[in-house]
Amino acid sequence: MNINWDTKLYCLIGNPIDKSLSPLIHNEIFKILYKNSIYLAFNIEDNKLKDTIDWFKAINIQGFNVTIPYKKTIIEYLDDLSPEAKMLEAVNTVKNQDGKLIGYNTDGQGFLQTLIDNGIDIKDKNVLLLGAGGAAYAIGITLSLNGVNSIYIANRSREKAISLERQIKKNSSIFIQVTDLSLENVDKKDIDIIINATSIGMYPLENMSPIELNGFKENPIVYDIVYKPMETKLIQDAKSRGFKTFNGISMLLDQAILSQKIWLNLEKKHLEKLGKVEGILAGYVE
Ligand code: NAP
Repeated sequence: MNINWDTKLYCLIGNPIDKSLSPLIHNEIFKILYKNSIYLAFNIEDNKLKDTIDWFKAINIQGFNVTIPYKKTIIEYLDDLSPEAKMLEAVNTVKNQDGKLIGYNTDGQGFLQTLIDNGIDIKDKNVLLLGAGGAAYAIGITLSLNGVNSIYIANRSREKAISLERQIKKNSSIFIQVTDLSLENVDKKDIDIIINATSIGMYPLENMSPIELNGFKENPIVYDIVYKPMETKLIQDAKSRGFKTFNGISMLLDQAILSQKIWLNLEKKHLEKLGKVEGILAGYVE
């Protein structure tokens, strides 16, 4: 790509953004789609968020992603929100629509897409959701609105799990039970899908697993959204028991593709080309 006067800028803002794979993924997508666009990552200090947004408006930036710790605080600087971003009270994608900054959230849909692409029907399933942080919020709310039967939320700090339970109950009447990572009150034989949305398994906790997989039914699905390493302790344990597993790579990629869809109004013919990016990405995270 030749950078010239017409090159469009996209970026990620967060703190820290070191080692983020977003520039790699988005620049690959631009290359595949022959877009004269570039994607950078900016580490923004807390007291500089407003200045950053003012600067984005001044240069008429096309779009940007938002990561920890600004997914909630960004909202006050935006002109409007998508229904998902309103419900999750968090934004990870912003589009400049004729000078107005519109916030979206692709976390939940990015998570769900992996299951859809692999033919997994979540309808009436019983889910064990480990974690109650930002990612677990998006996943829990998305699952509750897409037909699961029940969600057991297991988290280290009970208050956060209860707060997620409350948020889910605002929009859905499915069965929810709050527990901790010992899973003492969970009927494990009842669980169809286990999702790890804690940071356990990711560097520097890569030698830990959030739970033991003893006592579950014969073939639950284990979906660990951690993507670095691609094969966490939990995934290794699940594989050794013959369980079906998914890692966080496809969620990461699907979220990026959803951001691009929002920015560029991509159609199906464009999306088919993007299958190539996953292979390129895998080489970087192993
Ligand atoms: P977050 O908001 O900081 O939440 C972290 C979660 O992990 C909380 O539930 C926290 O429990 C739990 N946790 C952290 N350290 C723990 C420990 N030592 N023992 C027990 N629980 C612990 O982070 P997040 O944004 O939700 O991200 C969570 C993980 O998902 C990260 O590894 C992140 O990389 C991954 N992720 C992947 C994708 C993807 O596209 N694949 C997208 C988003 C996130 P407490 O509530 O008790 O603190």
